[in-house]
Amino acid sequence: PEMSLTEMLDESIRHHRDKTAMTFGELVYTYEEMDERIDRVARGLSQRGVKKGDRVALMLPNCPQYPVSYFAILRLGASVVQVNPMYKPPELLHVLNDSGVSAMVILDSLQPLLDAVRSNTQVESVVDVSLTEPSSFDELLMEEGVSAPRVDIDPKEDVAVIQYTGGTTGRSKGAMLTHYNLVANTLQSAATQSDKTNRGNERVLTIAPLFHVYGMTSAMNLTFYLGGNVILVPKFEVENVASIIERLKPTSFPGVPTMYMALMEYYQEKNFDTSSLNVLTSGSAPLPVEVMNQFHSITGASIAEGYGLSEASPVTHRNPVTGLQKRGSIGVTLPNTEARIVDIATGENTMPTGDVGELIIRGPQIMKGYYGMPEETEQTLRNGWLYTGDLANVDEDGYFYIVGRKKEMILASGFNVYPIEVEGVLYRHPSVQEAAVIGVPDSYRGENVKAVIVKREDSNTTEDEVIEFCQENLSSYKVPKLIYFVEELPKSAVGKILKRELVEEEQRLK
Ligand code: ATP
Repeated sequence: PEMSLTEMLDESIRHHRDKTAMTFGELVYTYEEMDERIDRVARGLSQRGVKKGDRVALMLPNCPQYPVSYFAILRLGASVVQVNPMYKPPELLHVLNDSGVSAMVILDSLQPLLDAVRSNTQVESVVDVSLTEPSSFDELLMEEGVSAPRVDIDPKEDVAVIQYTGGTTGRSKGAMLTHYNLVANTLQSAATQSDKTNRGNERVLTIAPLFHVYGMTSAMNLTFYLGGNVILVPKFEVENVASIIERLKPTSFPGVPTMYMALMEYYQEKNFDTSSLNVLTSGSAPLPVEVMNQFHSITGASIAEGYGLSEASPVTHRNPVTGLQKRGSIGVTLPNTEARIVDIATGENTMPTGDVGELIIRGPQIMKGYYGMPEETEQTLRNGWLYTGDLANVDEDGYFYIVGRKKEMILASGFNVYPIEVEGVLYRHPSVQEAAVIGVPDSYRGENVKAVIVKREDSNTTEDEVIEFCQENLSSYKVPKLIYFVEELPKSAVGKILKRELVEEEQRLK
């Protein structure tokens, strides 16, 4: 349906006024209370000059001020620019200038970071948020007066969110997601939720950051649409998360693989009640089958893997929550979504079933384009199809399997090696806690396969022993020639292992 995200929220507020919309520590807000706050903040922003078409940045961890500011900006017809609070000054400067941000809502402790770059930006107005002290955000909430002006929004044209890509493979690009894109993905996601009888009673552990597209849609927008309760947690600390799961009994948890790995390690030692959880989803990076299996055997909860990307609002594939789940697969396409596997070199011609090619996707959730980047947009969106840059195949039942990213494929002695396959084997090794496989230049073979591994505590395995294990499980050209043990792997804000940094480090060492 062609409605704006704000209309979608308004309808939910009408239906669920007295129900709990958000929980944050001891704080609880009903839908009605949230509505009032959104209205006041919208009015405050409007008095500070924010108007339709402006870009307003949010730079906050998960907290109640996040959804309130987000929907306040949207009610004014402005676009939300999602900013990662972990950015360093050059990244912040890039994002603010690339999208032409004129106003910002920012966590008070991040002000110095903004101050360092502000004179080189067009930021005119700043509202600060504090989680402990009164702040200018609270002043907006206290002002009395008439409601915020409502503006007309064209769902298909007007950009609701500019979502910068994770920058896992290169410089961040701003994906323009329209109201229509985001409403569509919310409805598509809702259609794949299993428990329709319990609709509106979802309690969603929101630990995936809201500034990332996955948390934004799968935790926030979807839960508000359903009339459920968003349980906001600002930071992933395993002990705290485990205790919140016991106390607040969330029903679902959109998580990422590294979170599940950390929880699993923790649950191996401690007894915890996880019985409230019924829909666990994993996305944003491959979930090793072994992790899924172990998590299930320890907690009894199963994880349904899905797939998405910033450019697709983000969800395009998911394993059905009830029905056939295939481990190691990202599942089937969401309703109204088409996906094809095409020839890597030409981007045309659908590959035969089972063969690897580039995954391309079409549907109502696909972005309008990259902000201010017509050439990149043209390369990525061709005849309505989004070229994902991910390599995948599909089986006879329509289940898709990601085998790697085009940019991360390793060419060793003329053979294609997909890091995900090698990592999958490494995760089966009892001493491996985390693993990342990259290609390193080699004058003889072109590239060598290198594995960077975090060992489990108490393990004393050796490089040779890991190589031997791989030899038993992989053809020889896929076996890592180099094994490197480290204390920790570099991760992005969502917990994605940053292979780009490993590759850069490799280049520095040369
Ligand atoms: P950039 O595009 O700037 O390099 P990024 O790719 O990390 O950064 P996101 O939009 O956050 O930006 O991530 C989308 C990517 O995450 C997908 O293209 C895919 O490579 C990966 N991904 C998401 N879900 C899965 C999954 N279930 N299995 C494997 N990979 C996944």
